[in-house]
Amino acid sequence: MKLVRTFGRSAKTAAALIESLEQRGAVSTASVEPVVRKIVADVRKGGDAGLRRYAAKFDGLGPKDALLVSREEMQAAWDETAPELQLAMQTAQANIRAFAEAQMPAEWTLDAAVGVKTGQIVRPLASVGCYVPGGRYPLPSTLLMTTTPAQVAGVERIVVCSPKPAKETLAAAWLAGVTEFYRVGGAQAIAAMALGTATVGRVDKIVGPGNLYVTAAKIMLSSECGIDMPAGPTEIVVTSETGHAAGIAADLVAQAEHDPETLAVLITSNAALGQAVANEVKLQAKANKLAKISIRARGCIFVTATVTEAQELTNRLAPEHLSVDSVKDLKWVRNAGSVFVGPYAPQSMGDYVSGPNHVLPTGRVGRVRGGLSVMDYVKLITVQTYTRAGLKALGPHAIALAEAEGLVGHAESVRVKMGARR
Ligand code: NAD
Repeated sequence: MKLVRTFGRSAKTAAALIESLEQRGAVSTASVEPVVRKIVADVRKGGDAGLRRYAAKFDGLGPKDALLVSREEMQAAWDETAPELQLAMQTAQANIRAFAEAQMPAEWTLDAAVGVKTGQIVRPLASVGCYVPGGRYPLPSTLLMTTTPAQVAGVERIVVCSPKPAKETLAAAWLAGVTEFYRVGGAQAIAAMALGTATVGRVDKIVGPGNLYVTAAKIMLSSECGIDMPAGPTEIVVTSETGHAAGIAADLVAQAEHDPETLAVLITSNAALGQAVANEVKLQAKANKLAKISIRARGCIFVTATVTEAQELTNRLAPEHLSVDSVKDLKWVRNAGSVFVGPYAPQSMGDYVSGPNHVLPTGRVGRVRGGLSVMDYVKLITVQTYTRAGLKALGPHAIALAEAEGLVGHAESVRVKMGARR
């Protein structure tokens, strides 16, 4: 990992590097846009035929393979799963569920004035499509992370798409009780869920991470279908003054193995710690091909002049995953997808079993939202109730504002109802 001081002679180099990291998009999807545009157009026009053509080309779907995975196939996969993995999946699911239940927003009413009640009701989306990546690794954990909050929210129709689904992913689908699972992936799966085909009915919203093709398709179709967020190649920032070098390096290497595009960064004002982590990463990444590639490409240790500068830089980068030394650090954290506190909280625990979602915002989207949550599966619908007295009390203010805006119809509608008798 390259070590860059943000002060002294390397200040200019550091500033340029920080600027380039700040400007990183959620993912730079420009390179794949032409390909994705064509795939989306072909699925829009050709429906199942278009979907199948790309699934055959990229993921080896046979002409006789059913798009829909049967429950029997899922059950067989579950039955073949080792008991310790079954237990791990059950534990993860229980914790994801408990966390999503705690996140569930409440319905409430407020007395805005005498005779005026306002409030919100909470309603689930009717249908969601959960994208579960399957290109490089099978991700049964993502199946649980995307379907469990949907169930807690009360979403009626939960669709899963995953290319070449591995036995472990099908086993997780069995555990989750998924009934609509299509063995398709990439941009073509996103297009099918957003636009609908004869086999895959369209959904109201698509959630879940994916590679550049998946993310580009989600962004491209976001005017026709709701999406959660761009959740692209993984990012990790560790901001530490007192951490243990081997533990920090292990976190950096672990997240770096997700994708050659991963961004792995340590920020510290403790130069000795920076050097120790650089040495450890070199050792630990040796046997990890993917981690080695991403760390070599953009792995970076920033040594800052002060602790405050390290904290400010962290917020500027708004990382997907952030590790800090202690609970006290939470005070200065403003931008991050998910925070891991202390020496005993490896980021991998959040990837699997802690309960908070592992689908997290990348590319500085952490400035405007946190990770996937039950809130992504519900709508907060506002409600307002007036009695005649309430309208009399607040009505004149609405009339004054409407007239100031020149909206005479608005003013009149209040007047008419103020004068109405039943
Ligand atoms: P994937 O399922 O996202 O992508 C595989 C699909 O890509 C294939 O089905 C294929 O259709 C398509 N594809 C591959 N090459 C193509 C080409 N040349 N042209 C058109 N389409 C092509 O699986 P993956 O590739 O393993 O990627 C998973 C991604 O998800 C990684 O980037 C990982 O970092 C990310 N991830 C992010 C989060 C998060 O919350 N931010 C969580 C988990 C995983």
